[in-house]
Amino acid sequence: MEERVHKLWHFYGGLHLEPHKAPSTRTSLRAPPLAHQLVVPVHQHVGEPAEVLVRPGEYVHKGQRIARANSYLNAPIHAPSSGAVVEVGERPIPHPSGLQGLCIIIETDGRDAWGGRRLAPITDYRSRDQAELRMRVRECGVVGLGGAAFPTSVKLNIRSRQRINTLVINGAECEPYISCDDMLMRERAEAILQGARIIQHTLRGPECVVVIEDDMPHALEAMREALGGEQAGGLRIVSVPAIYPTGGERQLIKVLTGKEVPTDGLPADIGVLCHNVGTAYAVQRAVVHGEPLLSRIVTVTGQGVREPCNLEVPLGTPVSEVIAACGGYTDRVRRLIMGGPMMGVAMDSDEVPVIKATNCLLVAGPDEVAEPHLAMPCIRCGECVRVCPAQLLPQELYWQARAKDLDKAQDHHLFDCIECGCCAYACPSHIPLVHYYRYAKTEIWACERERQAADVAKARHAFHLERLEREKRERAERLARKKAALRDKADTEQGPNKAPIHAALERVKARKAASQAKAPEATAKPHPSRRRTVARGRGGEAK
Ligand code: SF4
Ligand code: SF4
Repeated sequence: MEERVHKLWHFYGGLHLEPHKAPSTRTSLRAPPLAHQLVVPVHQHVGEPAEVLVRPGEYVHKGQRIARANSYLNAPIHAPSSGAVVEVGERPIPHPSGLQGLCIIIETDGRDAWGGRRLAPITDYRSRDQAELRMRVRECGVVGLGGAAFPTSVKLNIRSRQRINTLVINGAECEPYISCDDMLMRERAEAILQGARIIQHTLRGPECVVVIEDDMPHALEAMREALGGEQAGGLRIVSVPAIYPTGGERQLIKVLTGKEVPTDGLPADIGVLCHNVGTAYAVQRAVVHGEPLLSRIVTVTGQGVREPCNLEVPLGTPVSEVIAACGGYTDRVRRLIMGGPMMGVAMDSDEVPVIKATNCLLVAGPDEVAEPHLAMPCIRCGECVRVCPAQLLPQELYWQARAKDLDKAQDHHLFDCIECGCCAYACPSHIPLVHYYRYAKTEIWACERERQAADVAKARHAFHLERLEREKRERAERLARKKAALRDKADTEQGPNKAPIHAALERVKARKAASQAKAPEATAKPHPSRRRTVARGRGGEAK
């Protein structure tokens, strides 16, 4: 039976945080000047990296596929603008590890030329097959733009036994400073709603709820205006209290339905699917306009940047150029963070490019980031437990991560931790708790990879032994068959003459035996010369 969202629920824990969104929402969306060089990583999504399709020296058009998805959990990459590929090589990428990643470097020609690369628009999406729409979303490289960068086509591919009753379009942008979804809803509400309808059609028509936090009144107003009210045509706009982290998938589902997503399960297991408003917009561009994902809205904010705002940035644009487009740095820069202050990742360099997951560049000043405190011992105050929205025991996870007791950490549902940072924020001992959880998760993944590699090696060795054994057996069987064939052949050749030959052989054998039987008497007589010799030798005695 179809489930309707009527009332709101509360999730456990969470924090009331200052939004700090006003500075970046004062001006309209705009695009920065096109960068001279675009650095496009081939791994911008959850899953395997895409496979490079271009070589240095090649000219690429805007929207041209430059790396293909060669596995299911993957997304292709497209040229964000036209120009020449000057290099395919390792470059710094935005990742907590600070490691480099494979990138395609395009020197732009300023023409932004599509060269006929745009796919055919699908305006009559309601009459199209779900699989066709999913394929279009995949072809266009659309991934979750809320920060997770999970391939959208995979998320839309619901298993036959699952039934989605509620589609949630997530506009609950709960982390402080980040306002890209807010601005997108203010300025492109109709396109977002059309994207939501396309997703709704792809999922065979569940109820669709667009969720917006109550501290985003302009976005709420724009979306209601575009919809023509609170609800229409199977879509409904719901305003939820601004509590961090309401925008977390599991927390939002709890607020809307009162249901908990099972620990090892997915929202689809309880009939719910969440997509970010930015993703709905990207789906609309892909289906209705035939445009791959080439750019995204990025909030550039913080005391360290002169003109905080939201920009529509081509993917691959170096962060330094994005900051330059916002008037450059102030003299109050303390830290460059990709993402927000709670879940973001500090960057060592502004030479890293904007990727599909980049929702915010926070150039934090001294008042916006806590000075590094010396971590004190855990006093078991329980504050972290009180705020944890995943209802975990953060202090236990901390001890287990510290002691590298990874099995126990998993038993305590480490992987349910959404790394929201509430526990670290509340901890009076200033323990960087999330760092410990990230470390433990990385260790577990590394062990898992090693275990899988060992399993593969073991399986290959067993297969090798089995093959040797089989070959030996087959050789022996072949030899036996050959011998038997030779024997048969000999029998066949001898055929009817076999009996006389056998009789002749028997006669020869009998003659031989008879002559051997006579031979001892003949040889028993000593030779005359020998008899003489013996007589001479014994001469004295004989006399
Ligand atoms: S909040 Fe900090 S000090 Fe208190 S129990 Fe949790 S980890 Fe320990
Ligand atoms: S970071 Fe993890 S453990 Fe800490 S409050 Fe958030 S979900 Fe809980």
